Amino acid sequence: MYSNILIPIAFDTEKNVAGAIEIAKRIASDGASITFLHVMEQVPVYVTEYIPDNILEETRETARAKLEKLVKNFENSRVVVISGPTGRSITNWADETGVDCIVIASHRPVISDILLGSTAAWVVRHANCAVHVIR
Ligand code: ADP
Repeated sequence: MYSNILIPIAFDTEKNVAGAIEIAKRIASDGASITFLHVMEQVPVYVTEYIPDNILEETRETARAKLEKLVKNFENSRVVVISGPTGRSITNWADETGVDCIVIASHRPVISDILLGSTAAWVVRHANCAVHVIR
């Protein structure tokens, strides 16, 4: 049983989100906190100068709104949107906030010949806490 669970959400795999939430409910101890985290990939500096200032902020707000929908009726949960390299940002955030289990999908369903996607592989290798991989 875990008390501080992290579910990284990519938005392109709705099926896996439901699966991750289901698993998190099962492995959560009473009163456990569950964080739904989306990482916005960092836009290279040479690209940012061509993007209007408000676009990145709007993208962040859209991501946050999508996460809020997912956690509706979910006790003791919070949503977080950060930016950076996806895998590293997930494991760093877990370290910094005392996460004791990350629940992550192994890969996007369309890429059926890859057993462990790049983000999942990073998290499994670098996390300092338990990682529950959904296949
Ligand atoms: P693939 O390589 O097939 O894209 P990934 O390993 O990248 O698969 O993604 C698997 C899981 O990693 C997703 O289901 C999600 O939990 C997490 N993930 C991927 N991208 C992000 C992101 N930008 N923010 C948060 N979590 C992510």
